[in-house]
Amino acid sequence: MSDTRTALLLVMDGVGDRLLPDRGNRTPLQIASTPNFDTLARQGQSALMNVIGPGITPGSDAAHLALFGYDPVETYPGRGPLEALGAGLDSKPGSVAFRSNFATVDDDFVVVDRRAGREFTEEEHAALQAAIDGMVIDDVKVHFVATVEHRGALVLEGPGLYADISEVDPHETGKRVLISKPLRPDAKKTADVVNKLMRQVHLKLRDLPINKDRVDRGLPPANAILVRGAGRHEEVASLEEKYHIRSAVIAGGALYIGTAKFVGMEHVTVEGQTGTIDTNFDNIAQKTIECVNSGYNYVFVHIKATDNASHDGNTDEKILAIERTDTMLGKIIDAVSDKIVIAVTGDHSTPLSTREHACDPVPIVFWSDFIRPDDVERFSEIDAAGGALHTIRGLDVMPLLLGYSGYIEKFGA
Ligand code: ZN
Ligand code: ZN
Repeated sequence: MSDTRTALLLVMDGVGDRLLPDRGNRTPLQIASTPNFDTLARQGQSALMNVIGPGITPGSDAAHLALFGYDPVETYPGRGPLEALGAGLDSKPGSVAFRSNFATVDDDFVVVDRRAGREFTEEEHAALQAAIDGMVIDDVKVHFVATVEHRGALVLEGPGLYADISEVDPHETGKRVLISKPLRPDAKKTADVVNKLMRQVHLKLRDLPINKDRVDRGLPPANAILVRGAGRHEEVASLEEKYHIRSAVIAGGALYIGTAKFVGMEHVTVEGQTGTIDTNFDNIAQKTIECVNSGYNYVFVHIKATDNASHDGNTDEKILAIERTDTMLGKIIDAVSDKIVIAVTGDHSTPLSTREHACDPVPIVFWSDFIRPDDVERFSEIDAAGGALHTIRGLDVMPLLLGYSGYIEKFGA
């Protein structure tokens, strides 16, 4: 293909917000100093965006599927497979994947601590992971990885597995681990396997030396796991199959990495990248520039700090996260402005006033050195309403980005 650019999607998680009465009735994007976002707004085309659809409050994973060009209603596999992929497990089509917690249970399988104290050493993680990963239950193989703190991901691989089963996690201490039941007849095998798994994992973990050691130190033993978020990994056409592009994800959280890998992006790791305000913005900029220069056709960069600050109700931190992301983008533009088409946006609004995701549309701006400008001068929820693209949906982002980048073929002769 001739004259192509790298399509760059920059997502600030939960960046959209509402007017803050105690800050002059402005949104965090309006308050923040964002010279680079504003340059894009002045020179590019803006819109408001309903990421999944009007009135629908997006979860981050479903929202990102839409931004990647996949209808979440058709393709959303559940949180388990996305977390598993993000944690580095090879979840295959037909497998059922879960999120997992280490937990403490008593001899009657009553939950004493849903997080088994939350803190684990590397050695403890390794011992717990080794005990569970590779277990076989009937004809089903268990893949397991311990990730952060008490968290992990688990994949069941075998014939005839379905995700339609009831939960084992009672979500409360003082209650027994629940017996999983099939929610449709052909999921009976999966429920049986999960129930056996809960028992067998308990018997294995109970006697691990690291757990005896934890008890000696006054810590709750990780003598059980609680799995949840079951999802069946279905096959989807990858970005490469759909658009013939090579794509990369630069993100700090397992869910975002997993959602990107689900559609075929390669995970590019960045030293010091986390899901917090302390993430290394300079290294993210540097790695993004490297990806552009090394021939990736599409690069997705995810910043989580905006959403964390929103869930915490921390206005100053949300503004700071926006400003640091703006500075980061400035470095990218300085280095590779003539090689890219950019879209800057959020995956949903997370108003500081509610601390939860909301259906309010988010601003988006498309920029390249050849895209026609509109009258918008600033990047914000209020300004974007006057943009040339009016109101779009998340599913429109990929075609627009890839069309401008030169990866969508001419329709007709
Ligand atoms: Zn999100
Ligand atoms: Zn959130």
